[in-house]
Amino acid sequence: MSDRQKGLKEALAEYFPYSEHRFCVRHLYNNFKTKHKGKALKDSLWKAATSTYVREFQVALSEMESLSSKAFLWLSDIDPKFWSKSHFSTRSKCDMLLNNLCESFNKCILQDRTRPIITMMEGIRTKIIQRIAKKKDEADNWTGLLCPKIQKKLDAATEMSNRCWPTHAGGNIYQVTCGPHSQYGVNLEEHTCSCRKWDLTGIPCPHAISVILMRDERPESYVNSCYKIETQQAIYSHMIHPVKRRFSGTAKETAATTSASTQQVPQVQQPPAIHVVRWMVDNQESSTNQGTSSEAISTQK
Ligand SMILES: [Zn+2]
Repeated sequence: MSDRQKGLKEALAEYFPYSEHRFCVRHLYNNFKTKHKGKALKDSLWKAATSTYVREFQVALSEMESLSSKAFLWLSDIDPKFWSKSHFSTRSKCDMLLNNLCESFNKCILQDRTRPIITMMEGIRTKIIQRIAKKKDEADNWTGLLCPKIQKKLDAATEMSNRCWPTHAGGNIYQVTCGPHSQYGVNLEEHTCSCRKWDLTGIPCPHAISVILMRDERPESYVNSCYKIETQQAIYSHMIHPVKRRFSGTAKETAATTSASTQQVPQVQQPPAIHVVRWMVDNQESSTNQGTSSEAISTQK
């Protein structure tokens, strides 16, 4: 997921040829609205982005074309496989359109990013230690089969399934009708629906749930295993062990700490911060100071 940074599309295609690359639609819209303004155009762009199957996507684009041919041409120039759910691969079981995930990670490491490389890596490592422990504790306290947020989504879809009417077509194939202009095909064995929501997310759509309930089965048992509590527990079952750093106390204190470290987690000593780094003007001074510590360089005037 990227913000369409220049060159990134080509670089990812070259170095990660089997990975799917998506553009953040909020960022895409921010570029779009500099030339094409108005709520109707905004709505049709988001409708095209959130469409889960190709026909729905084409209808949204046609609406945009009728509003503004220039806006339509601008958007048509970008391959929908980067920004519309209707063209996303169903392999990842993720239908995300926004890069909130990257933004959150970026915010989390904001302070560490300003630090020297080793201190930065140590900061990130410590945050990951905390996160793994927190996530494991959370998952251990959950009850039921699915993670709570997924259960909530499934409950909402189950509520919506009241409006769907399934018809058995043979084997594991069903036709589901939801109103006069809405009809889909569900394959229970392959976990697919022609609306593609189940395929994209791994969570049964209302059409599939109507079939599952008609068969007197539980929708939970048709959710992809990646959303199960036991999977979450397995993901966070490992830990990153604490790492001991160089102790900068006296020889006696160092010996005491080394001895204690076999029984308990050692105290972590932060390295000295670099306040100012000045480049040496004089070549001789520069070569003389190349072997000095960062602290010594920081005190140069
Ligand atoms: Zn469906």
